[in-house]
Amino acid sequence: MKCPYCSSSDTHVVNSRPSDDGHAIRRRRECDTCNRRFTTYERTQLEALMVKKRSGRLEVFQPDKLLDKLRVATNKRPVTEKDLREFVYGLEDEVQTAHVDADEIGRRTLEYLKTLDDVAYIRYLSVYRDFDSVDRFIEEIRQLGGDADTRAAAERAATAGDADATPDDAS
Ligand SMILES: [Zn+2]
Repeated sequence: MKCPYCSSSDTHVVNSRPSDDGHAIRRRRECDTCNRRFTTYERTQLEALMVKKRSGRLEVFQPDKLLDKLRVATNKRPVTEKDLREFVYGLEDEVQTAHVDADEIGRRTLEYLKTLDDVAYIRYLSVYRDFDSVDRFIEEIRQLGGDADTRAAAERAATAGDADATPDDAS
């Protein structure tokens, strides 16, 4: 099992126990190279990690897809792959143990990006969150309280309806 942070193959199991719902074996591992800890879950293929949507429908939680979205949003921003992995795998851990729902995952992702990088936050918002109007989007950006340049960039992105329109540097 490779370390999600440094990709080293030298990891060992610190402890192992059934997950809270009894449907998986949870293993706490430690990397022998970077000494970070991470969790793995062993479950049957039929018992994918499900999260509840607001509609009540269940969907499979796919950490790798979330990681991809975050990579897109933080492209060329001062954010490391390690930061993103730490967030996503930490979130996965919580979905496993605390049964966090889809709304909560979305909310935490936005909160995380907000503290991480304004531009990445705006990109993510403009691409992945449905706004019924440009006004509401701009309102959300105002609440961000970022500097005037950031807000101007966000408003341009909102009007263009295209994340690529968000300049890397709003100078
Ligand atoms: Zn490592």
